Amino acid sequence: MTDTAAALEAQWMPFTANRAFKGAPRMLVAAKNMHYTADDGRRILDGTSGLWCVNAGHCREPIAQAIASSALALDYAPGFQMGHPQSFELARRLAELMPGDLDHVFFTGSGSESVDTAIKIALAYHRARGDVSRLRLIGRQRGYHGVGLSGISVGGIENNRRTWSQHLLPGADHIRHTHDLARNAFSRGQPAHGVEFADDLERVVALHGAETIAAVIVEPMAGSTGVLVPPVGYLERLRSICDRHGILLIFDEVITGFGRLGAAFAATAVGVTPDLITLAKGFTNGAVPMGAVGVRHGIYHAVLESSESGIELFHGYTYSGHPLACAAGLATLDLYANEGLFERAASLAPYWEGAVHSLRDAPGVLDVRNMGLVAGIELEPRSGAPGARGYETFVRCFERGVLTRATGDIIALSPPLIVAQAEIDEMVGVLSEVLAT
Ligand code: PLP
Repeated sequence: MTDTAAALEAQWMPFTANRAFKGAPRMLVAAKNMHYTADDGRRILDGTSGLWCVNAGHCREPIAQAIASSALALDYAPGFQMGHPQSFELARRLAELMPGDLDHVFFTGSGSESVDTAIKIALAYHRARGDVSRLRLIGRQRGYHGVGLSGISVGGIENNRRTWSQHLLPGADHIRHTHDLARNAFSRGQPAHGVEFADDLERVVALHGAETIAAVIVEPMAGSTGVLVPPVGYLERLRSICDRHGILLIFDEVITGFGRLGAAFAATAVGVTPDLITLAKGFTNGAVPMGAVGVRHGIYHAVLESSESGIELFHGYTYSGHPLACAAGLATLDLYANEGLFERAASLAPYWEGAVHSLRDAPGVLDVRNMGLVAGIELEPRSGAPGARGYETFVRCFERGVLTRATGDIIALSPPLIVAQAEIDEMVGVLSEVLAT
């Protein structure tokens, strides 16, 4: 082991090839706006908003100052049977931004906690109404809902489940994914084919009985599994099937929330309102860990009114509504509004689409897909080495100064919403050069 590798041994890194990384580390030491700085002084153009979270760009002063002020004024306040004004203010602001009667907010510390919370609220809601047989949870193949045991139960990425397969939630099932290269490759925006994939929910309903199903959870646009854009009409149809059978619909908007698709939420962009919405990442611009679950009026009231007195929902986190996170969240929402960043994402989307689709003829490209300021470039796997081409593409782009993200052999791009057209050209140009090699 080299001295460098030995110095890195103590940390067991998340979702990382630890041995490979520690042999050849990629270290980031600073960030500003669209760029990271690596430990060798190189500037790295951020094509992925960190991990889909830094939607307003890095180290923005209003957010940093809000966090610093809060750290000096109120570092921590217990959230159980106690409160502090900023968390109520942030909940009110978020409720205003969410569509329909998603009027209530439960704070969490991460996307995984948001998923766990939404699932627990869905189960609590049916129980509160005396609908006690509704216990099943339905996810979707290729879905990513974080890494908690509930999230991987409804999630559909085999590698994330296999090791723990004997310990997943009983009664979880999955509808089919929406990926259809044969009909939809190189679609611009939402693909034309595949609305009928939503009907797979009817198969699951027929199999188990609607009266046993509590909720369906999907990412409106699946991010981590390689940018699967919902076919036209698909989310609308899921909504109507859920309504027909009294099943709650949960949108996991941990990635799609806060402007990524050119509107506040995917729900807003496509005009489909879920019953529960899970959020994190862009909520605080990634600056302080925080998540939230948006809850429809009727669900909140059913749970509250089902208990005579005392605590209505036995659930919560030490860091639910943490003062620093709330300060960051309020400053982030202000920044999004003041700079019109969601609208900016929408107005840049056509340029983005044109730029990423120019990769169509690059060697090994099977598909390019896009929605809002997200793109997925699916590469042909090298025979006998699935994922190798994607990983090498990511490493070589990094060496050439652009941060991309690889999921297997799919490269995902999701830059901060402040990205300039010249920076889009730079990202796509570097990716094109790397693919050519
Ligand atoms: N849900 C979705 C759709 C995500 O993309 C992610 C993370 O990428 C999560 C949940 C989990 O979020 P976290 O990593 O903050 O737990």
